[in-house]
Amino acid sequence: AASERRDGPQWNAERHLIQPWPYAGSIGNEARTPIGSGDGIYITDGEGRRLIDGPAGMWCVNVGHRREELARVMYEQAMTLSYNTPWYTMSDPSAELAERLAAHAPGDLDHVFFTTGGSSAVETALRFMQFYNNVRGRPEKKLILSRGGAYHGSTYLSASLNGRPRDRDWMDGADDLVVKLTSPDPFRRPAGMSVEAFCDFLVEEFRETVTRRGADRIGAFVGEPVQASGGVIVPPPGYLPRIREICRENDILYISDEVVTAFGRIGEVFASQDVFGIEPDMITFAKGVTSGYFPLGGVMISSRLTEVLRKSNHAAAMFGHGYTYSSHPIGCAVALKNLDLLEGGILEHARQVGPYFQERLKTLEDLPLVGEVRGAGLMACVECVADRESRNPLALDNDVGKRIDRHCHELGLLVRPLINMCVMSPPLTITREQVDDMVAILREGISRTM
Ligand code: PLP
Repeated sequence: AASERRDGPQWNAERHLIQPWPYAGSIGNEARTPIGSGDGIYITDGEGRRLIDGPAGMWCVNVGHRREELARVMYEQAMTLSYNTPWYTMSDPSAELAERLAAHAPGDLDHVFFTTGGSSAVETALRFMQFYNNVRGRPEKKLILSRGGAYHGSTYLSASLNGRPRDRDWMDGADDLVVKLTSPDPFRRPAGMSVEAFCDFLVEEFRETVTRRGADRIGAFVGEPVQASGGVIVPPPGYLPRIREICRENDILYISDEVVTAFGRIGEVFASQDVFGIEPDMITFAKGVTSGYFPLGGVMISSRLTEVLRKSNHAAAMFGHGYTYSSHPIGCAVALKNLDLLEGGILEHARQVGPYFQERLKTLEDLPLVGEVRGAGLMACVECVADRESRNPLALDNDVGKRIDRHCHELGLLVRPLINMCVMSPPLTITREQVDDMVAILREGISRTM
């Protein structure tokens, strides 16, 4: 076996490589699937088996693998200017990308602060909120509202917002800064309650929390328009605009975390306004901005906020925050070319194929193990249950997601297993025929698991 050899990738990895999110008992020695190459919507594993890249890497390879245009632009930018300090210099690609993102962002979200990924984008938005409230003389207005099912990152503050079961069990966090609300998950609403009544309950809980904790102590609400890693949770209709309104009434900054939903995942560059009808105060993004070809993220910030800072009495107050790789010229150049590809037909394709993807996946609901298939655009989740009638969840150690993934792998599909769920977010270039292939494999993989 490869692992018995005293060299090679497996040997090296088992001794030296720690993967993200390892378990204590197998730290440094997690099971990992070697991936050799990628092309379009496919990747090839260590044994040369071609697989549909079901999660598009980590919801990020939006325009697909092996795009020559993106490889070329990285090379050309590196040969022109490989790096410049973002502190007191700027590159042409960073300025152009800022302008193009502002043109796509809703309302007056005309400014961008570039980061290195999604966690650093959320961290930046939160630190900006703290700075903003300090400068305008509201230092007590710092609490952050988040929700069950949320995932916002792996830096200390962003991770403190995470609300998925198990994520925080063994990890510390800034708990005194965060207030958690109910996940807007219609599938998990109380038995006998209509979706409309559930929506009213969520809005009332939000309003009551603001009253109880005090609007003068709450700085921001952070929410994904569709909770991605929580299991592609699409909130009840009307929920997001109602929460937006309460934030506006109470001077609470609304931070829309679009690390997953932006750059075509739901057919638009940003989904907050174009899909869900809300204009946030800040939008965080990453992943699809470069289709995963280069680590880059950022925060779109409303001019209303920058105006408050500019006109404050504290001109010398410094936002002491920034990364060596903020506005990286190679990342920004890749993002510009990636936007060209999206605007040049891939967004339109995603809008066309998205409903078909949802409709085909929905047919899996006739399988006894499947409790619900849900999603938006080109992101979806198959949630398995112990009992369809009661919606009772499977035991945590059932690991049904992993078992389905193993069968699907043999059949030619990589799944992102999340305990009792399989999450799908393929490259946006997927065709109808490839959707059919994916659904056929999933059907077979789930059937073999039952
Ligand atoms: N926010 C959301 C909604 C995410 O899904 C993720 C990652 O999956 C993050 C933030 C963190 O991004 P990153 O892993 O790039 O730091």
